[in-house]
Amino acid sequence: MTTLREAVALFLEAKRLQQQNNTQKETKKMDEKQYMGEIKRTMNYEIDLDQRLSMLALGLAGEVGEIVDHIKKAVYHGHEIDHVELGKEFGDVMWYLYNLMDDLGVDPDIVRFLNVEKLRRRYPEGFSEEASQNREE
Ligand SMILES: [Mg+2]
Repeated sequence: MTTLREAVALFLEAKRLQQQNNTQKETKKMDEKQYMGEIKRTMNYEIDLDQRLSMLALGLAGEVGEIVDHIKKAVYHGHEIDHVELGKEFGDVMWYLYNLMDDLGVDPDIVRFLNVEKLRRRYPEGFSEEASQNREE
């Protein structure tokens, strides 16, 4: 199992590589509009909406499973976490999630707002076990 110190070291190394990569490529920052343009470019709009929703939901679940598998292998099998590969899986999750929101007409800004509002109501003083156990929704 990866110790906290090892995990921090891996995180810092991944950040260093990311920063190094960012200076080599033009991937420093990508806003949501740019990202949506990129992911929609690779979406198959030849299939109908029901098929897309089904494909996106299944794909999202599958990609979350791939992240879960990385974590499982690190925690239970002693594998090193490969932050580059894990980052690619997070990207796959984002591709499915953002395409799904787009096809459903869900605005990511509103999603973030609703999420933060819910969390502020649920945990007004930040997370606590008591607030978690006594939450209303
Ligand atoms: Mg994947």
